[in-house]
Amino acid sequence: MYDLIIIGSGPAGMTAGIYGARREMKTLIIGKDVGGQLVWANEIENYPGFEKVSSFELINKIKQQTINFGVEFKNDEVKKIEKTIDGNFLLYTNRESFEAKTVIIAMGLSPRRLAVPGEEDFNGRGVSYCANCDGPFYKNKIVAVIGGGNSALDAAEVLSKIANQVYLIHRNENFRAFEVLIDEVRTRPNIEILFNSEVKGIEGNQKVERIKVLDNKTNEERVIDLDGVFIEVGRIASTDLIADLAERNEGNQIITSEKGETKTPGLFAAGDVTNSEFKQITIAMGQATTAALSAYQYLQLKNK
Ligand code: NAP
Repeated sequence: MYDLIIIGSGPAGMTAGIYGARREMKTLIIGKDVGGQLVWANEIENYPGFEKVSSFELINKIKQQTINFGVEFKNDEVKKIEKTIDGNFLLYTNRESFEAKTVIIAMGLSPRRLAVPGEEDFNGRGVSYCANCDGPFYKNKIVAVIGGGNSALDAAEVLSKIANQVYLIHRNENFRAFEVLIDEVRTRPNIEILFNSEVKGIEGNQKVERIKVLDNKTNEERVIDLDGVFIEVGRIASTDLIADLAERNEGNQIITSEKGETKTPGLFAAGDVTNSEFKQITIAMGQATTAALSAYQYLQLKNK
């Protein structure tokens, strides 16, 4: 029996783990990828205390600190959560089950699909959702990044240092990203920006060879020969797991109180998976701190 099980091993999950363990709660983190969405990031320049830090270094430091406090890690995926009659939670993976007195959902977000022909067929064969992980395979090649938010611009910037040519393709005419990032991509000589442009198909044989792009102002179609397509069109919450246990907004993000509570006593949520307006590491960590302290407080009141 655990006092606290955290689902998700990103910055929020690990921060909740640190705070849970420091309150002497027997704590387990179950997650698929240690680091969560931070793995997709490149260098981080807005994490206080580190002028510039690689995402891998930051992940490893946080993980080590979490382990040092005695938090257990399980590399697995929770498939089902049930509430028991005595108010605890049963969590099932494909192979095992775990019981906890409190649970924090910190599953983050997953990449939104572009939903165009060829995307699924070439996933892993030229279609990628992680420039930081797959970028090095495209040395001196031609790639496209789809999207107009911070993630897309970040990806274009990373890839411009590896690939020969980067097309940054955005369906709109304005980016919604930090000015500093916009300036960065505008000044890179090997990034060509295509505004008002929509990818209509990804084609090839064994791997990606070309994309079809429609200019939604002129209705002209352009075919671009390339080697890789990086899709960065936002992220979605996959929270069906707790559909009966927590309220969600129209984007399936979990609605919590200021203390990270859901409608189910003992079940909390933190980080990007919640309906917080801004998605930043520091915000996710703050929410995780609140959720872990709330879980501790909940147990104390329950045991009185
Ligand atoms: P985002 O801010 O939601 O932007 C998604 C982009 O994809 C938008 O430009 C959107 O176009 C486009 N898009 C959405 N659906 C599309 C579709 N079906 N076809 C084509 N384009 C589509 O998502 P994000 O860039 O992944 O960022 C997520 C959050 O993480 C944000 O809060 C962001 O600030 C944060 N983030 C921060 C950093 C950082 O601090 N350095 C880095 C990365 C991400 P429209 O503009 O036309 O809607």
